[in-house]
Amino acid sequence: MSAKWRKFLSYYRPYLKGFIADMCFALVGAATSLIIPLIIRYITGTVLAEGFADAGKTILYLFLIMLGLLGIEFGCNYFIAYVGHMVGARMEYDLRNELFTHYQKLSFRFYDDQKVGSLMSRVTNDLFEITELYHHGPEDLMISAIKLLGSLVILCMINVPLAIVALVPVPFMIVFASILNKKMKKTFKKNREKIAEINTRMEDSLSGIRVVKSFTGEDMEIHKFTEGNDMFLRSKKDNYRYMAIYHAVLWASTGLITIMVAAVGAWMIGRNSLELQDLIAFLLYVNNFTEPIRKLVSFTEQFQNGMSGFERFYEMICIEPDIEDAPDAQEMKKVKGDIDFKDVSFAYTSDSSKSANVFTDLDLHVNAGEYVALVGHSGVGKTTICSLIPRFYEPQSGKILIDGTDITTVTQKSLRKQIGIVQQDVYLFAGTVLENIRYGRPDATFEEVVDAAKRANAHDFIMELPNGYDTDIGQRGIKLSGGQKQRLSIARVFLKNPPILIFDEATSSLDNESERVIQESLEELAKNRTTLVIAHRLSTIQNAKRILVLSEKGIEEEGTHEELLAKDGAYSRLYHTVQ
Ligand code: ADP
Ligand code: MG
Repeated sequence: MSAKWRKFLSYYRPYLKGFIADMCFALVGAATSLIIPLIIRYITGTVLAEGFADAGKTILYLFLIMLGLLGIEFGCNYFIAYVGHMVGARMEYDLRNELFTHYQKLSFRFYDDQKVGSLMSRVTNDLFEITELYHHGPEDLMISAIKLLGSLVILCMINVPLAIVALVPVPFMIVFASILNKKMKKTFKKNREKIAEINTRMEDSLSGIRVVKSFTGEDMEIHKFTEGNDMFLRSKKDNYRYMAIYHAVLWASTGLITIMVAAVGAWMIGRNSLELQDLIAFLLYVNNFTEPIRKLVSFTEQFQNGMSGFERFYEMICIEPDIEDAPDAQEMKKVKGDIDFKDVSFAYTSDSSKSANVFTDLDLHVNAGEYVALVGHSGVGKTTICSLIPRFYEPQSGKILIDGTDITTVTQKSLRKQIGIVQQDVYLFAGTVLENIRYGRPDATFEEVVDAAKRANAHDFIMELPNGYDTDIGQRGIKLSGGQKQRLSIARVFLKNPPILIFDEATSSLDNESERVIQESLEELAKNRTTLVIAHRLSTIQNAKRILVLSEKGIEEEGTHEELLAKDGAYSRLYHTVQ
């Protein structure tokens, strides 16, 4: 059995009891439905034909028995529909949780190439049909098999030649169904891809709605969206064309069986080789016989649909996180904050040529507690260096050490606990001010949050918000100003209280007034911690004890602001162009 199938089946394990109960009820229900026509045949044949003395009484008894059987079928159907669906829904729930958890493990490199809408589509849309498949699949197979075989046996017992007539179209139906199934499978997969595309477009456009409006790009967005939606329609068209042929042909074939049996049966009665009650029983069973065929047809459709969703799920689950903790990874204890880069080479692409490298054989040392500024022109790799320290990306070669410990030998969680990052674009979650600050340390008390906010110069403005700390800040903090958002993100880091800090252009997008306030809180935050500051405006780092100038060749110069200006090299050029 392939790994995919094993995975598919493994989701049954926790719900085996419910599933088996579901199957038992399906079995009982199907078996019961086979008995009723037999009783009817007994009534029309034996009881009436042989003229029972108390036929009325017998018929009443038989009627009550049939009513009882109907009751059993009713109970089974109810159980199947309710418990069966719940088993399926629980399995879908597990799949969904697993996928979301898996997403959380994947690294930056994965997300660089993915679109959020498409990832969401896999969690919502693609798994939708799986519930149905998981329980209806085996259930339908079971019910159909019992009804099909049961009625076949009974038909043969009643009259073999007529049973053969009923069977003739079946092989053709099977061949036809399997050919069309293959075609449908492709269209189902395509449908899903198109839906994912639509979701991606929508996500992109709605997240950027403010840009859309400022460029009056609504018409363009509608046009792009309609294009995607059109493609969806086209793929659905193929899909439904196949489905239409499929259903129409199979429906007609089952009808054909009924008329063939009726015609041949009538002819046989005329020749005295068949009794009327047998024909009645036969016609009742033909329904029992064709219904499972129809069920199998809808099952194959459901199967293709569910499986194409599962396949897309499985593809995603198979992507291994490219950065994982070593099997013997240690917990990193609270560090002093020495940072070392040793011969580190890094490229975003897997292209092995040197030109693709952002830097090659980079050496860098930052002492614990030092305040170091990293400067260099845009795109030279400053942010990249900072993403390597928390191990967001893995360098192609070389080592990064913190307090002498190779960061690949400790758990990512304990490593990232040591590092606080304040970036230019702040990401805040939809929710309240309190929740967002607490993201730095979920178990912090309210007093600790307030203290962190005070130190980040955020407390005063928070108190002016309509609900103070409980104010909802909107998606991505849209209801706050840039400076306010930055102050919340700094409060978040205060609360986290890490020994190593990275400020990546933290004040670049702010106006002078906010910049000053935030610069103050950043300096407060930096006290007694190793701090790496990237600044676009060199004025903000002039008093750093050590400035590193990064260029394509690596660290080109280092020293204080005055020393570097006196050197009249890269820094001085940068200083004079940027200022
Ligand atoms: P800086 O912060 O110094 O302005 P970055 O470190 O952000 O520069 O980028 C260094 C180089 O790497 C740039 O050429 C940029 O285009 C490229 N780059 C940055 N991020 C990615 C990414 N996620 N995937 C691929 N290339 C990237
Ligand atoms: Mg940058």
